Amino acid sequence: MEVRTGFNKHIFGDTEFLVPDRYITLEPKGGGAQGLVCAAVDTVTQQNVAIKKLSRPFQNVTHAKRAYREFKLMKLVNHKNIIGLLNAFTPQRSLEEFQDVYLVMELMDANLCQVIQMDLDHERMSYLLYQMLCGIKHLHSAGIIHRDLKPSNIVVKSDCTLKILDFGLARTAGTTFMMTPYVVTRYYRAPEVILGMGYTENVDIWSVGCIMGEMIRGGVLFPGTDHIDQWNKIIEQLGTPSQQFMARLQPTVRNYVENRPRFPGFSFEKLFPDVLFPSDSNEHNRLKAGQARDLLSKMLVIDPQCRISVDDALLHPYINVWYDEQEVNAPAPGPYDHSVDEREHTVDQWKELIYQEVMEYESSHGRAQSSGSQQPSPAAPNNSEPNGY
Ligand code: AMP
Repeated sequence: MEVRTGFNKHIFGDTEFLVPDRYITLEPKGGGAQGLVCAAVDTVTQQNVAIKKLSRPFQNVTHAKRAYREFKLMKLVNHKNIIGLLNAFTPQRSLEEFQDVYLVMELMDANLCQVIQMDLDHERMSYLLYQMLCGIKHLHSAGIIHRDLKPSNIVVKSDCTLKILDFGLARTAGTTFMMTPYVVTRYYRAPEVILGMGYTENVDIWSVGCIMGEMIRGGVLFPGTDHIDQWNKIIEQLGTPSQQFMARLQPTVRNYVENRPRFPGFSFEKLFPDVLFPSDSNEHNRLKAGQARDLLSKMLVIDPQCRISVDDALLHPYINVWYDEQEVNAPAPGPYDHSVDEREHTVDQWKELIYQEVMEYESSHGRAQSSGSQQPSPAAPNNSEPNGY
C-alpha cells in the first residue's frame, strides 16, 4: 500500500511504523503485548516523545477492549504521575482500510524493572514510592482501581520522576481466551485478586508493597508460576491468614485455602534484614531502614481489611517527607464511565468504535499532523509558532 502524504515509513525488524513526518529519529524503546514503543523527536514541539503502535487493536475482543479503554482513559486523566497523551493518529484514511492506532506520549528513560536492579538510596526509594501513591490516588479519585500495577508498567526519568503507564484491569474480567506470546506477569497481584474476592482501593497498596520489597531484596517477592504457586509463596513468607479472612472466600476457594499446610510466616526483620537496606553507617539511614520496614509490614498484609490505605501510606513517616498537597490531592478527572468495561461487541463493532475515537481525537486536536502541512491559525495570522496540536 502506498504511504499517505505527510507520513514516513520506519522499519524495525518485522514492525513498520507509519508516522507523520513531524516525528523523526525513531528508535525502538520497548515492547509489550500491545505493540512496539519507539522514542522519537517531535519537530513541531521540539519535544522527545514515545510513540506506541497498537497493531490492529481490534484483532480480538480482548485487545480491542484494552485499546479502547486505554485511549479513553489517557484522554481523561491529567496528573504528573500518570502518562499523558500528546497526540493520537492512524495512517489509514477510512474505516475499510483502518489497521493501526499510534499513541504519542511523553518520553521517559526506563521502566521500573531496570531501576529495581540498582542500589537505590532511601531518598530515591521513598520518592519513587510517593509518586506511585500520588498517581494511584488520582486514578482512584476517577473511580479507577488499577489491580495490576507492575514494574514494567511504571516508567521513570533519570531525575527520579515517575509515571504510571497503564490503567490496569477492567472492572469485569475478560471472558475471551487470548493466544499471546507474552506471559502475563501476576507476581504483583493482591491476594483478593488471586483468590477472586471483592476488592477496594487498597488492593493497589499490595502491588506497591511488592515493588518496594523487590527494591530492597533485589528479587521478586512472590514469583509464582501460576495462581496456586503464587498463593503458596505468599503464605510461606507472610503466614496463613486468619479465620476471619477465610470466612470471606467463596466456598470452593475457601476449601482449597483452608486445606493448605499452615505456615506461621516470618517476621519482617527476618524477611527484610538490616543488611538489605541502604548503608547503615549513620543514624539517618538506621532510622530510615526502620521506617521502610514498618511501611512494608503495613502494606504486605494479606487481609485487605488490615492493610494500610493509600491515604495513610501517603502520611507514613517514610513517605510524607515528600508530601505536597497539589500532587496528593490534584483535582479529580471527570468520572470514568465504566460501561466501556462492561460492553460486549463484535470485532467489527470494536473496529468502528476505535476508529471513531481516533477520528474524534484527530478532529478535535487538528488534523495537521505533518510538519509540512501546518496552516497558520486564522485567529493568529502572524503567529510564527508552529501550531502543534
Ligand atoms: P507498554 O506497551 O505500554 O506495556 O510498554 C512496553 C515498554 O515500553 C515499557 O515497559 C517501557 O519500557 C517502554 N515504554 C512505554 N511507554 C514509554 C514511555 N512513554 N517512555 C519510555 N518508555 C516507554
